[in-house]
Amino acid sequence: MKDETKCLHSGYTPQNGGPGVMPIYQSTTFRFNSTEEIAAVFDDPTKAHIYSRFTNPTVDCVEKKIADLENGVAAMCTTSGQAASLISVLNLASAGDRILSTSAIYGGTVNLFAVTLKKFGIEVDFIDVDSSEEEIKSKIKPNTKAIFAETLTNPSLQVLDIEKYAKVAHNNRIPLIVDNTFPTPILCKPINFGADIVIHSTTKYMDGHALQVGGVIVDSGKFDYTSGKFPDFTEPDKSYHGMIYTKDYPTCPYIIKARAQLMRDFGCYPSGMSGFLLNIGLETLAIRMEKYCENGLKLAEFFNSHPKIESVNYPNLKNNKYYNLAQKYLPKGTSGVMSITLKGDKTETIKFMDKLKLASKEVHVADIRTCVLHPASSTHRQLTDEQLTNCGINPSMVRVSTGLENIDDIIQDFEQALS
Ligand SMILES: *Cc1c(COP(=O)(O)O)cnc(C)c1O
Repeated sequence: MKDETKCLHSGYTPQNGGPGVMPIYQSTTFRFNSTEEIAAVFDDPTKAHIYSRFTNPTVDCVEKKIADLENGVAAMCTTSGQAASLISVLNLASAGDRILSTSAIYGGTVNLFAVTLKKFGIEVDFIDVDSSEEEIKSKIKPNTKAIFAETLTNPSLQVLDIEKYAKVAHNNRIPLIVDNTFPTPILCKPINFGADIVIHSTTKYMDGHALQVGGVIVDSGKFDYTSGKFPDFTEPDKSYHGMIYTKDYPTCPYIIKARAQLMRDFGCYPSGMSGFLLNIGLETLAIRMEKYCENGLKLAEFFNSHPKIESVNYPNLKNNKYYNLAQKYLPKGTSGVMSITLKGDKTETIKFMDKLKLASKEVHVADIRTCVLHPASSTHRQLTDEQLTNCGINPSMVRVSTGLENIDDIIQDFEQALS
């Protein structure tokens, strides 16, 4: 099936006389006829749903749909994008290990990696997203367990050369984790270019309507964990009666381990109702992404020719540094997100923002409604000046997320605020 069709039909197949729309299983638990049957599920957690802390039938349908859209083999939803980033890394690294990450990533992820993971004994090395193969390789140490990067960075909008990163990761027998939040699988499928694990903050375009925070981790099923670098995958898991993930679940050991070990212990799993709401967003994802790209390009062109705008950062503009990479990895468009830098200081930038009437000032991006945010005073407030520069942020920069309103109304609002 093509994406538009997967968005509507993957994950749930109505049975004869059954509900046409995926039902909401809002139940903490599931009943069995015998103790023996429950025991069987403890032996093989893929057999049935037993407890909604780590599996739920409604969420399961959504997971199958997202895995299908990303060309992966399995997926696991989480209660936030942050939880997805955390679990994606903890599933590979423990105290004493390292992760290599590009530095231009979401501010919350920077903090998670540089501050919180460090307290857990995991060190994260940062590298410029445009680094050469040699530079990336030189940062990989024997205890580095994964490379982490964003397809289209939030908010600096740099485009990742996925194939280059995948090649270096695989030469060093470690997986590449890609945060594909902004493109969604409609604009880019990182697994097709060699990514091993794809994560999302579903809070953004996937949910699409600013209804709820969520995340997901997708397993490509392609990475070989048996090289000796990942004993947690190849040796019996004491916490799960000796399960060996690569042997017992050869098609998707990564996601089974993440669910059986980490989700069981952390419990950051969405409810049936959450799965239902996310699915509504996914049903129209393909068609919405097309429109975001169309409106986004028109708005970027408007800013590009406006005398009060110093620069526009939108990878689908021909003058953008990442235009060629965007053509390769994001041929359908680069979403509705862009950043603009005003000719003016921080005070004038904030004044411009406060004059906007239609575009809402909110801590969100990839909303169905046009919204703006000042990263330096909000999402990236906790970062030092040096970290800000590394993330490609300056005080006169505004992140603009083009919504699905009529483009003429959107442009008119920015025009009057700039005047
Ligand atoms: C928002 C975001 C996150 C964090 O997701 P939450 O759902 O807010 O926890 C992670 N990565 C990217 C690229 C994001 O935009």
